[in-house]
Amino acid sequence: MPRRVSILTIFAILSSVAYAQVTEARAAADTSIAIQAATLLDGTSVEPRHNVLIVVRGNKIAAVNQGGTPPTGMEVITLPPNATVLPGLIDTHTHIFLQGEDPAAGGYDIQLLKFPASFRSARATVSARRCLDQGFTTIRDVETEGAGYGDIGIKMAINQGYIPGPRIFASTRAISVTGGYPLEGYNPDIVVPTGAQLEDGPVKLRKAAREQLANGADWIKVYMTHRSWVDKHGRLVSQPTLTLEELKAVADEAHGQQHKVACHAYSGIGLHRALDGGCDSIEHGLDLDDSAISQMLKQGTWLVPTLAVYYYDWAPENTPEGRRDRARASAHEVSFKKALKAHVKIAFGTDMGGIPWSDPIAQEFGYMVKFGMSPTEAIQAATVKAAELLDMQGELGVVAPGAYADIVAVAGDPLTKIDALKEVSFVMKDGAVYKRPK
Ligand SMILES: [Zn+2]
Repeated sequence: MPRRVSILTIFAILSSVAYAQVTEARAAADTSIAIQAATLLDGTSVEPRHNVLIVVRGNKIAAVNQGGTPPTGMEVITLPPNATVLPGLIDTHTHIFLQGEDPAAGGYDIQLLKFPASFRSARATVSARRCLDQGFTTIRDVETEGAGYGDIGIKMAINQGYIPGPRIFASTRAISVTGGYPLEGYNPDIVVPTGAQLEDGPVKLRKAAREQLANGADWIKVYMTHRSWVDKHGRLVSQPTLTLEELKAVADEAHGQQHKVACHAYSGIGLHRALDGGCDSIEHGLDLDDSAISQMLKQGTWLVPTLAVYYYDWAPENTPEGRRDRARASAHEVSFKKALKAHVKIAFGTDMGGIPWSDPIAQEFGYMVKFGMSPTEAIQAATVKAAELLDMQGELGVVAPGAYADIVAVAGDPLTKIDALKEVSFVMKDGAVYKRPK
């Protein structure tokens, strides 16, 4: 009971803060603002730019000038001298409807079994708010985990100005096959909800893709592998799900309607079917073998690695689950390094939602740099590269004339201390200011 009261109280406070910010955001959307930045990482230049004046008119960037004085009649925002200005960050793998999977808090299952849709939507609203607060002005949300088309509703509420939140590229329900997604392990005589739309056969899978696209999906998300375990030879194995024929039906439908397909795939048969079937992005890619990497290069397939999430909630060491959890993390590190060396296209993604939303989204940058990316490459994965994945080149992920005015600032220099990206002091989305330096 006390816990319930405290959650409601927190939500009420967040809502009133959010309302004030939405009001400011609406007012700002019609005005012109000049931002004076001591240091700018514009998304494309290799070197930082200094003493820059960014002119925003409406929801677009009008000019990015070296020095100069702001045009008269404009609001001028002068960011602190130690601040680094960046394009709004992009997380290409989130789940706003999921709230962590800590077993002690009921894990994944309780969220589908016991939480009403309104409760899950309220919490998704808070998750969306947190994205913006942490400088992530765009997300690709890769499925609602049993919350149906909830992401479409949250996106509508953000776009119509009712709640603050990032730009959302939504994937709605996601697709897998029988036995290919939780909930699992219940009495077979009881019908339990599932976290994704489960169908079998190319006809039904194509229909699922059609339904999701008809109901507003921007991307189609497919689970090409499911459970994973360590076999008796010590190798990480993952269960393949859709057949090649089934995936081709989904991808053909999505591509025909000019939408892309994001495929959860760890390793082995399922990973290779994902590539043979035309997936546009491989999510996680825990164990990419050499032929998978060369096929990704040939086809221009993206990798969205999501490193940090595999360091959460490890089962005890000498259990099958514990061995699996450790094997996943160690295979992933090797896989990421191989992909990086081969110049596979990599976009920033976290699996937030699998991670509690109260944790920093930007912790992922630290893993990317630890495993060999330069800070510049890691930042570009979350800006210009992520925008390319979303087919928004020149519109998102850059601070440049003509782009949407999605601009953030962090305290300090992320090129020398990557965790500076956790210290977001200024957030503008679509020309509207959501957070200002204190
Ligand atoms: Zn995910």
